[in-house]
Amino acid sequence: MKTKVYLKLEDQDRHGAGCTCGKCNRNGKSYGVAAYEFDSADPIFVEYGPSEEAAMVNAELEAKKADLEVFPEDCDELTAIAREHLDIGTLEARHSDSLDFHEVSVWGLKAALQAAYDLGVHDEGEQNARDAAGASL
Ligand SMILES: [Zn+2]
Repeated sequence: MKTKVYLKLEDQDRHGAGCTCGKCNRNGKSYGVAAYEFDSADPIFVEYGPSEEAAMVNAELEAKKADLEVFPEDCDELTAIAREHLDIGTLEARHSDSLDFHEVSVWGLKAALQAAYDLGVHDEGEQNARDAAGASL
């Protein structure tokens, strides 16, 4: 299963005048876009570009290369599953029947439950791998 990340514009770099790195604009300013896993504070990578848009494009390309799945920032893994399989945009209660209650198909629900289960198995596998690595130290 692909690692789910969100991309966030956050860093700005200043390069010298006449820098030829290709990732800054003529004022020497370079924009950074970081890719984060939803449960991690450390970015997987930060990509730079001469504009916010270019940095975002570079980050999307890098995510694709690294086989990461990009989701919007406001979207955790469970919300991502709800969006993908149930067409439900948010799992936050909005205190309105029309927004809080949805009609879903059993196959959509089955796919969502399966995706959530797979997510748990995946996380547990990672935890076991971490435990094993820790035990061998
Ligand atoms: Zn530069």
